[in-house]
Amino acid sequence: MARLELANVSKSYGAFDAIQNVSLAIEDGEFAVFVGPSGCGKSTLLRLIAGLDPISDGAIRIGADDVTRRPAGTRSVAMVFQSYALYPHMTVFDNIAFPLQMEKRAKADIRQQVERAANTVQLTTRLKDRPAKLSGGQRQRVAIARAIVRKPDIFLMDEPLSNLDAALRIEMRSELTQLHKTLGATMVYVTHDQLEAMTMADRIVVLNGGKVEQVGTPMDLYHYPANRFVGGFIGSPPMNMLAARVLGNGAFDVAGVGQVVMPRLGRKLAEGVAVTLGIRPEHLGSDVAEGGFTARIMPHNVERLGAQTMVHARIDDQNFTCVLSGDRPLTQGEAITVGCKADRIHVFDESGLTVAK
Ligand code: ATP
Repeated sequence: MARLELANVSKSYGAFDAIQNVSLAIEDGEFAVFVGPSGCGKSTLLRLIAGLDPISDGAIRIGADDVTRRPAGTRSVAMVFQSYALYPHMTVFDNIAFPLQMEKRAKADIRQQVERAANTVQLTTRLKDRPAKLSGGQRQRVAIARAIVRKPDIFLMDEPLSNLDAALRIEMRSELTQLHKTLGATMVYVTHDQLEAMTMADRIVVLNGGKVEQVGTPMDLYHYPANRFVGGFIGSPPMNMLAARVLGNGAFDVAGVGQVVMPRLGRKLAEGVAVTLGIRPEHLGSDVAEGGFTARIMPHNVERLGAQTMVHARIDDQNFTCVLSGDRPLTQGEAITVGCKADRIHVFDESGLTVAK
């Protein structure tokens, strides 16, 4: 297994800069997840690491080797695609064995490797079947086993669970986490699903417009988003964003809410400065009496989920969501007061950067 290092990596398609000056290191044995909205460059970055596309600028190192100019087949990586990319006319055994057969390995060696990989992904009873007879989850496990037999330094996975239904995705999520522990492998995993990123990653790389917005553990990103984009992207339902202005008395003025107590911040904000307040829906309660943010809202939609009650309202033309714990028999159009403590409020400055606490 090996460390992966990207140094000032850029990729352009004609005049379009798909990846812009990305530098990051993924440690040996780490499970790193690239996450971001559609078109942010996640798959492009993975393809550059795999060597499937040439990079325009920068360097890629795997372990001690500079692989920047090395063609795909000669890098010690194995890629698993969303589409599985299995050969339909071959059995599961032959699909898994394919990379070893290309290397002209001895038959007994191939059998041993295939059986071991099939055992890891729980497919030993299906080795004689063709892919058409397998479920989506089983097909993806064949693709993963085919990657395992290559014993790569790094596994690259491009949205491998997107073709599976919701229940199977959850099951496969924990299987992949387990597989990572079993193999101790370095894994780079691409998804647009922040929940997948949160549940699987050791560290998440948030991409946006071909640039890295933030790199950190899931809880780093949740508790300490570096900027407004990360604050809004990580967490579900998304963080509420409210436009606000700094008042002379040190509080915020929020249209449709009134005065909001300012959390303790690392720097002083001048009177009149425009900021955005970020408040997570799950940090709001209907019984918050002391300080911070308090608003009277009129729900236009109430979703009772049993364990939680999701309340959707508008505050001065801005959508606002609260996740209240437990089942609350609220009705649409019945005003409620919600609030959170000041230290739960995230403050983003005019350029979208977090004002540190
Ligand atoms: P998604 O989640 O939708 O798959 P992504 O984050 O993986 O998105 P990429 O597939 O990496 O995004 O694409 C990043 C940008 O580069 C997009 O704007 C895409 O249109 C562009 N792009 C990708 N491949 C090419 C190509 N071969 N030629 C021109 N533009 C490309």
